[in-house]
Order: sequence, then C-alpha cells, then structure tokens
Amino acid sequence: MYETRIVHATDDDMKDAVREACALLREGEIVALPTETVYGLAADALNPAAVAKVFAAKDRPSFDPLIVHIASRGDLKNVAIVPQDIADSVSKLTAAFWPGPLTLILPKHPDVPDLVTSGLSTVAVRQSAHPVLRAIHKELGRPIAAPSANRFGRISPTSATAVMKELGGRIPLIVDAGACAEGLESTIIAIEARPNKKPVFRLHRAGPITKEQLQEFGKVEKVKEKTGDLPHAPGQLPSHYAPLTPLMLLERPADFKPEPGKKYGLLSYRGEDDSPYVRLHAWARVESLSPGSGKLAEAAIRLFFVMRLLDEAGLDAIIAEPVSETGLGVAIMDRLRRASTSGATHEKRMGHAS
Ligand code: AMP
Ligand code: MG
Repeated sequence: MYETRIVHATDDDMKDAVREACALLREGEIVALPTETVYGLAADALNPAAVAKVFAAKDRPSFDPLIVHIASRGDLKNVAIVPQDIADSVSKLTAAFWPGPLTLILPKHPDVPDLVTSGLSTVAVRQSAHPVLRAIHKELGRPIAAPSANRFGRISPTSATAVMKELGGRIPLIVDAGACAEGLESTIIAIEARPNKKPVFRLHRAGPITKEQLQEFGKVEKVKEKTGDLPHAPGQLPSHYAPLTPLMLLERPADFKPEPGKKYGLLSYRGEDDSPYVRLHAWARVESLSPGSGKLAEAAIRLFFVMRLLDEAGLDAIIAEPVSETGLGVAIMDRLRRASTSGATHEKRMGHAS
C-alpha cells in the first residue's frame, strides 16, 4: 500500500512535478501522468520490474499489452523496427498526427521487454502532445509504458480525482494537470502495405483521430472481432470502460422497458427537454455529454466524466442515448457499446471489477 500523493503541474509551473515524477520513474516506480487522451499509469518501458508494477496496480491481465510513449519521432527506432514497405506511411502519419492521439502497431525492437507487449512481436507506440508528459520525457530520456490509469475493465480516468478513485493507495504519485483535452483513448492502427496501392490501416481501436482523417493516407478497415480469441487490443474486449452500475445503450427509445420501483438515470447527448430520450421517462437523473449544443468533440471529452457522475449517483441502471456514428461519434459509440450491460458479459465484468 502507498499513501498516494498528488502533485500539481501547469504549463507555466511544472518543475517540481517533473522532478518528482522522474525521480520515481528512475527508481522503477509507477506514476499516474496526464496525457491529452486520458490519464496514464506510467513506468520506464525498458524496466520489466517497473512494468510489472503497472499490471499489478491495475489488476491488468498479462495478455493485455501496454502502449509505449516516446519523446520524439526520432526515438521510434529505439522501440520499433519499421519495415521498409510501410516506412513511407509511417513517416506521413507521424508527420500528420504526432505528437497526438494516434498509436501505431509496429514490429517491436528487441530492447522492449516482452512483458510490455504481452509476448507479441509487435509494439504499440505513440508520441503524446501533453506538455507535462513531454517535459517528463525530456528529463527522463527513456520510453514510457503507460496504459490508462484505471483498474482493468473500468472507466478510463480523465482527471486526477478519477485516478485517485481508481488507484488511490496503489501508486505513490499522481501528477495533476487538470482535465484531459481529448477525453478518449488514442486511435490504434496497424499498417499493411499493398503493392501499387495506398496502404490499409487496420483500426484496432477507434479514437480521436477519425477514419475520415486517416483516409487521406490509406484505406481504413476495422479489425474483425472474434469472441473467444485473445484480443489484440483489450480496449476491444466486448466488456470494457464499464461503470459498476449497469449501463444499457438504448439504440431506440421504444426499446426502454423500465422495471417498477427502479431508479434510472439518462446519459443524454444534448439533454434538451424536447429530446425523445429525455421525455421517455421520469429520470432520477439526467446528465448530458454536450449540453444544448450537441458537439461530438465536447461529448468525447466529457464521456468518461459523465459516466462516472452517473455511476456515483446511486442509480439502479444507467440508460445511454446513442450519438450519430460519424467522425468522433464512432469512438464514442464504441465506448458506449462496450460499457453497455448485456447478460453474460456483465456477469463476467463484475468478476473482473471486484
Ligand atoms: P490502454 O492504454 O489501457 O487503453 O491500453 C492500451 C491498448 O493498446 C490496449 O487495448 C492494448 O491491447 C493495445 N495494444 C498495445 N500493444 C498492442 C499490440 N502490440 N497490438 C495490438 N494492440 C496493442
Ligand atoms: Mg485502458
């Protein structure tokens, strides 16, 4: 057990936070850090003992590989080996989207411990745009392995308070730099070359970099999910990002069959009184993703925050309204479907979460 401390960092004053975080990371400790997507639980990616602590603190199964964060595009060669036939794509994608919320799956460099990649021959890599993480990288001079700073299967944290609720007592330090700018985990792709054609990008996880943005550089295809298989991206497990309160994504208002005496909360998109979802029931609580205006970017930023609010509201169930599946809406709907309860997957998840 640790007494978890919070140290604050702002763009103008992050010296103490950077120093403390680097001192712990150098000792092989783990630290929760802000990224532009969600808060991450960081370890020195080249130190297997430190990486093992990340798995332990999160109750993360060892088959679930971590994302490796690098300080600059030049550092890519230290953690991955870029095959010649996709070198041009990697260079175009990293020029367009790094630093930023795009993770590339590439053949791994032998220096990256097997624990980081769960024994896979590939490694997931990205360069974060968060100024605090970038400063820590600069001082540490090592790649950082950092999955989301939540317990396995639970809602990703977009604030230091949320990290404290998930991992308080399990980690020594949280660097608090305020709310995350994107609010959803990075887009994850693998690249496949095709002779005389644009490459194919296999979408392992939808995220802030949208299909529309990627299409300029290649053909985007979803990775087929097979239940029962070991997942390539456990963010892609059927049950993930889950509140403890059962959540149901209600694709059509007519499908709602409330049970008498139960308290239901609505996770609404715009929360307007004239919305068919708001009018459907005398909700015990309504929280909106993008109050009034209905902007997908705002909904993405607020999704996990609002899920947590509803999870803590003492409800019997959370009913989620769908958002339109375009642009960022694809990533939002992906998270809502995985958070949604349906019979067996929920039983299984409750097993994980305990
Ligand atoms: P998290 O940071 O908690 O969202 O987890 C990182 C995500 O990246 C997980 O869903 C991983 O499975 C995925 N990931 C990491 N390494 C690989 C890899 N080599 N191939 C496919 N997915 C990966
Ligand atoms: Mg995660």
